[in-house]
Amino acid sequence: MATGGFRFPKIEYTQELKDLQAEVRHFLADERASGGFTPVADGWAFGVDLEFSRKLGAKGWLGMTWPKQYGGHERSSMERYVVTEELLAAGAPVSAHWVADRQSGPMLLKNGTEAQKLEILPRIAAGECYFAIGMSEPDSGSDLASLRTTATKVDGGYKINGRKIWSSGAHFCHYMIATVRTGGARDDKNRHEGLSQFLVDLKGPGIEIRGIRNMAGDVHFNETVFDDAFVPEDCLLGEEGEGWHQVTSELGLERSGPERFLSSAITLTEAARRIGPTPDDAQALGLGRVTARLKAMRRMSLGVSALLQEGESPTVEAALVKDLGTAFESTLLNDIRQLLPTEPIGQSSDAFARTMAEGLLRVPSSTIRGGTNEVLRGIVARQLGLR
Ligand SMILES: Cc1cc2nc3c(=O)[nH]c(=O)nc-3n(C[C@H](O)[C@H](O)[C@H](O)COP(=O)(O)OP(=O)(O)OC[C@H]3O[C@@H](n4cnc5c(N)ncnc54)[C@H](O)[C@@H]3O)c2cc1C
Repeated sequence: MATGGFRFPKIEYTQELKDLQAEVRHFLADERASGGFTPVADGWAFGVDLEFSRKLGAKGWLGMTWPKQYGGHERSSMERYVVTEELLAAGAPVSAHWVADRQSGPMLLKNGTEAQKLEILPRIAAGECYFAIGMSEPDSGSDLASLRTTATKVDGGYKINGRKIWSSGAHFCHYMIATVRTGGARDDKNRHEGLSQFLVDLKGPGIEIRGIRNMAGDVHFNETVFDDAFVPEDCLLGEEGEGWHQVTSELGLERSGPERFLSSAITLTEAARRIGPTPDDAQALGLGRVTARLKAMRRMSLGVSALLQEGESPTVEAALVKDLGTAFESTLLNDIRQLLPTEPIGQSSDAFARTMAEGLLRVPSSTIRGGTNEVLRGIVARQLGLR
C-alpha cells in the first residue's frame, strides 16, 4: 500500500507468530520471576548482561534469519520482529549483542569473506560475540561523509589512523565495523566515493579505547583511537570505495526496528500495572492517548519489517518511524508522571521508580543516536520532493 509516497504494508500476526510471541513471553516471565534478569530502561542500549545474551543464543533467538551454515536459524524477519518486540517490551538487558545481531551480522553476511562468516556469525548467534559501530567522529556526526579517519594500503593490509567517537560498547565488544576514508578528501566534491568499511578486531595493535561517562553515570560509549592500527587485507568489507552505499544500508538496519519507540515501554507497563483496572478519568484518557500512539507506530514499524522481509530497503519509511518513535519516547515518561506522580529512584527495588529514573536520564539520547531527528526529517522531506 502506498501512502503519499510511503509504503507501510499491513501485517497480521499468523497463528505461528502468535505462538512464538507466547513462547517468548513465557520465557521472559519465568526469567524475571526467577531473577534471571531485572528490567531496565532502554535495555537494548544500556542493559549489558552477557549471560542473558547467551541464554537468548541458546534459545535460537539471535541470528534468527541467517543461514544455518553460519549458526543462524533461517527464520523470517517477522519472527525476528516478534522476538525483539517482546524483549524490548519486557525491558530485558539485551544491549551486549544488539548491534551484532541487528546490523553487523547482516553486514558481514553480505560483505564478509567466507572464513569470516564461518568464524564470527555462529559466535554472534550464540550471544558470545559483540560489535561496535564505527561511524561518528569528533567533527563528523550528521555529516558522516566528512569523516577524517583514514586507511592506507600497506604490505598485507591497511593501516588505520584517526578517531571514532560515541562508539557504544566498544569497551566490551570484540569487533567494530569502521567506516573510514581510503581515498578523496573530506572537502572533495566526490567525497562519498572515497569511503570504505573495515572489520576491525578491537584487541588488535594500535587501538586505544577510552570510556566516556554520560550524565546518567554510565560508561556506555567511548572514544576509539587508531594509531597506525594494522588490519589484514581481508578485513576490507565489501569493495574499496563502496563504503558510502554500505554504510547507508547499515543505517537502514540500525534505524528500522521497534527499539526506536519501545525503549521506555517497560515503564509504561509498570505504570499501567500500578494504576490497575480502575483508572480515574485523567488516567484513562492519558493511558488511552499514549497507547493509541504506540499502536500507530507499531503498525508502521511492522510495515517496515514486512518491506525488509520482501528484500526492500525502506530507508525513508524507517526514518519516519524513528523520527515519530523517538519524539514519542522523549515525552512519554513525563506524560506518565502526570498520570502517576512518582519520585524516580535509581537504586529502587521497585521497577517503576527505578526504570523511570533510568529512563529520564537516558531518553534525551534517543533523538540523537542513530541519526538526529532533524537529519531524518531531511530524508523524509527529500522523499516528499520538498528539498
Ligand atoms: C547514546 C548515543 C550512542 C551513540 N552510539 C554511537 C555509536 O555506537 N557509533 C557511532 O558511530 N555513533 C554513535 N552515536 C553518535 C550519533 O550517531 C551522533 O551523535 C549523531 O549522528 C549526531 O552527530 P553529532 O553528535 O556530531 O551532532 P551534529 O552532527 O554536530 O549535530 C548538531 C545539531 O545540528 C543538527 N544538524 C546537523 N546537520 C543538520 C542538517 N543537515 N539539517 C538540520 N539539522 C542538522 C543536528 O540535528 C543536531 O541537532 C551515538 C550517540 C548517542 C547519543
